[in-house]
Amino acid sequence: GEPERLQKILARAGVASRRHSEELILAGRVRVNGEVVTRLGTRAVAGVDRIEVDGRPIGEREPLAYVVLNKPKGYVTTLHDPEGRPTVVDLIEGAPVRLYPVGRLDYDTEGLLLLTNDGELAHALAHPSSEVSKTYVARVRGVPTAAKLRTLEQGVRLEDGITAPARVRLLAVRTDRRNPRNQVATVELTIHEGRNRQVRRMLAAVGHEVIQLTRTRVGPLRLAGLAPGEFRYLTLRDIKSLR
Ligand code: URA
Repeated sequence: GEPERLQKILARAGVASRRHSEELILAGRVRVNGEVVTRLGTRAVAGVDRIEVDGRPIGEREPLAYVVLNKPKGYVTTLHDPEGRPTVVDLIEGAPVRLYPVGRLDYDTEGLLLLTNDGELAHALAHPSSEVSKTYVARVRGVPTAAKLRTLEQGVRLEDGITAPARVRLLAVRTDRRNPRNQVATVELTIHEGRNRQVRRMLAAVGHEVIQLTRTRVGPLRLAGLAPGEFRYLTLRDIKSLR
């Protein structure tokens, strides 16, 4: 083969994007034939020169894996929590590769969380332009009026701006027999944005405290029978439908 720029070889081998591969080189994590290389213009020949990242030869590309987890309450959506709380990654046992959460659910939120080592898909889904829809079911204190439901649909003023149009449905109302003024409503919201604590803040903005929040859908993916803490690997069809 022809000599090529190292970052191009790394990106093609699935190590990282070309840009991130440049960062790996600059950080001194890449060796060619045993020597650390930090100059970005360096060329090498794929399949001839021995190229390693963090001491591991490239070419042994990890298989891509995709998991849908029903995240329980009481787990943080990070790889490592400085406070030592359990993380969603702790729940994925037996995965042959390291998986990373796509987006984030709050500590107290349950529901559908995608994890993958497919950096390109994760990046595409996390980007605001992807407009992937996310559906949440919230149990709230009190029963929202029709006007409030319409406000939630059309746009709520939050401190970081007005929310984009959403789809909102009142699914159920439960009344406490002994104290009929204690009512709990179940509301479904489908949003296309992903701001921090967005659903809780939208409902709070119209005067309803969230008692329980569950994400039930992300784009074409559904929880489909997973109990909290359970996960499944995506089918090829699922994966194709996400792209
Ligand atoms: N909106 C929230 O308020 N919390 C989440 O975890 C996700 C969306």
